[in-house]
Amino acid sequence: MRCAILADIHSNAAALMAVLEDVDRRGGADELWLLGDIVGYGPDPHRCFDILRRFKCVGVSGNHDLAVLERLSASGFDPDAAEAVRWTKRQISAEDALFLTRLEPVVETNGFTLVHGSPRQPAWEYINSLGAAEGNYKFFKTPYCLVGHTHIPMSFKQEAGATSAAPLSETVGLVLGKASLILNPGSVGQPRDSDPRAAYATYDSGSGVFRLHRVPYDIAAVRERMWNAGLPVRLAARLERGV
Ligand code: ZN
Repeated sequence: MRCAILADIHSNAAALMAVLEDVDRRGGADELWLLGDIVGYGPDPHRCFDILRRFKCVGVSGNHDLAVLERLSASGFDPDAAEAVRWTKRQISAEDALFLTRLEPVVETNGFTLVHGSPRQPAWEYINSLGAAEGNYKFFKTPYCLVGHTHIPMSFKQEAGATSAAPLSETVGLVLGKASLILNPGSVGQPRDSDPRAAYATYDSGSGVFRLHRVPYDIAAVRERMWNAGLPVRLAARLERGV
């Protein structure tokens, strides 16, 4: 089975389309695995759902998804993110909300545990350090775990009791083996590793290869749509810098 792994789309339909065209160029995918935060920040939440509904999706919910559904308070969000949550609530259809309500906090599939933040705290915790990764290993049972939330592509490996971390690179495919891994494919719609190109990963269960990909898209057009929608200016500016 071939799957494309997408995290933190954040209502960026232009980035999502660029990613899906890239998936197509690489031979397509049987399933999309979604690691949460379909909405929030960006200008096209409804369009993102229209696109995603065309695919077989296996997905988990993120903190922004839950805030839009009012299942989680946005009081812990920064003011720009909270403003985007309020704006998003007015944009999505009942069918879009239904898509979000069907997402679970944790999903196990094909040897992977899928979560947004971490297996220990699916909605909130950032796995952004060796300590955070180490603390989470006892909270999943599958060989591998996929996370999003930090918007930074990263891999953590536990082998013979030792944990190590390495950034994921688009030039090197990872052949998944015996070592237990926590993998983050970065963010489709709002990368924060100083590379503004959309990030996602593919996994082929036949070859066992997991690979990161980066895809350019028209950021200026998205910035303009955010301005026209009246979304906070700072959210548009950070897209260009990838932070
Ligand atoms: Zn996010």
